[in-house]
Amino acid sequence: MTRGKSRSNDGKTRRPIVAPASLLSEIESEVRYTRDYLGKDRLDPRVMSAMARVPRHEFVPAALCPMAYENRPLPIGQDQTISQPYIVAIMSDLAAPGVGAKVLEIGTGCGYQAAVLAEMGAEVYSVERLPELARLAADNLRRTGYGRVHCRQGDGAEGWPEAAPFEAILVTAAAWRRVPPALIAQLAPGGRLVVPVDRGASALLPDQELLLLNKDSDGNLRQKDVLRVAFVPLIESAGEKLG
Ligand code: SAH
Repeated sequence: MTRGKSRSNDGKTRRPIVAPASLLSEIESEVRYTRDYLGKDRLDPRVMSAMARVPRHEFVPAALCPMAYENRPLPIGQDQTISQPYIVAIMSDLAAPGVGAKVLEIGTGCGYQAAVLAEMGAEVYSVERLPELARLAADNLRRTGYGRVHCRQGDGAEGWPEAAPFEAILVTAAAWRRVPPALIAQLAPGGRLVVPVDRGASALLPDQELLLLNKDSDGNLRQKDVLRVAFVPLIESAGEKLG
């Protein structure tokens, strides 16, 4: 499998399919298996098309390239992981960004989820706390032709106020006990916020639930508890839990 330059993606040109059919069918079968939680038994074809086209092997460390298209999370350095493809797919489906929609991602990691959202045609803003990963993600995104994703290093719990409001916000690290208020404030009316929250029931074991918050046109929130999940923690620079 080669790692190299791809042509630039202007959001209109369809890129070739790079993911093997086995990965796509594993995602589809896990979606069917969890249909009662998701409330659907198949994902938006736009999500599956993006999963098929984003070269995941370009976002994982070179040594893990042979495993890039397995449906599992992988280490990306700094004790962090690239999410499992099924999780990336369902979060993209729940966020449901329209073409041209402004989307905020918290936890850029290696940049893979941001690339999937960009491949769906969203205008993506992504914040990463760790400088090494923020740099890695910006490099990966540029190299793979997703250089139009806006990347920033900082505490994502504060959102990206200058670019708000966002039609969708995805948090790819688990918030402690509550959704960061700045993110709720930066969600546009009619928007969707997808976020894992650790309810903190146990001091030893994670107790995380993926939440979908819908903000209606009057600014009222409706919450759906989607699925139990396992994310690395969201480390907020100010807040109830530091580290
Ligand atoms: N979306 C990533 C997966 C990221 S793992 C991908 O597709 O690869 C979660 C990421 O959240 C880690 O990189 C971690 O450093 C980052 N993170 C944790 N707390 C954060 C915070 N407060 N603000 C921004 N990023 C944070």
